[in-house]
Amino acid sequence: MIQVQHLKKSFKHLEVLHDINFDIHKGEVVTIIGSSGSGKSTLLRCINLLERLDDGHILFHGEDILGRGFHVNQYRSRVGMVFQGFYLFNNLTVLENCMIGQMKVLKRSKEEAKQMALKYLEKVGMLSFANQSSVQLSGGQKQRVAIARALCMSPEVLLFDEPTSALDPEMVGDVLAIMKELANEGLTMIVVTHEMEFAKDVSSHVVFMDQGVIVEEGTPTDIFEHPREERTRTFLKRYL
Ligand code: ATP
Ligand code: MG
Repeated sequence: MIQVQHLKKSFKHLEVLHDINFDIHKGEVVTIIGSSGSGKSTLLRCINLLERLDDGHILFHGEDILGRGFHVNQYRSRVGMVFQGFYLFNNLTVLENCMIGQMKVLKRSKEEAKQMALKYLEKVGMLSFANQSSVQLSGGQKQRVAIARALCMSPEVLLFDEPTSALDPEMVGDVLAIMKELANEGLTMIVVTHEMEFAKDVSSHVVFMDQGVIVEEGTPTDIFEHPREERTRTFLKRYL
């Protein structure tokens, strides 16, 4: 579905992604692991066009997302993103947060948007909060709403950037359980995470990044049981 080819990205003189290549197919869950500063967020932001690429290509269903005539706005609505910091609209209710993008971007009617929002709020266990202001929620509740909001846009692929890193430990499990359920239902996902148990358990494919390169990638068994590279082993020792 998405192919990243020879992607390079620098900030000023600092090259943070050097020649990144990877593919994700429909229904796969790719987790990206690696130390702080290795370029994981930058890679997701490039895929979502929140950052400009300096070199290389990203193909979506075989089409270059930077090519002439490519429908960038349509692409953005088909590739959802969930951030560490939630980014809910604080002045809106939970329900409104889940409706606004559907109405503005997808041009769904208010009623249609509402039905969709209620469906996904129920899915993430937040239906009873629908009419509350989103400022009153805990971090874990906010992240569940952010996931519902992303799902309301009917994305083909959902990108997660450390969705549980800002949460109190007791909230982490709820959010991971929802993500696992989505994975089991066949949603295509790219997940940057430090939750190694989740990566082991849920991924179809694991990518280990260090200093702007993909050092090693493979199945969870390849990466967690039989890492080939010294850098992967050193990284994993800190977590396992
Ligand atoms: P973490 O696990 O801490 O989230 P990461 O793997 O997501 O780390 P990135 O946020 O992608 O890492 O950052 C990669 C490198 O790029 C870092 O050296 C960072 O300081 C730098 N960087 C990221 N964003 C910018 C920016 N907007 N301007 C300048 N440098 C940046
Ligand atoms: Mg990051």
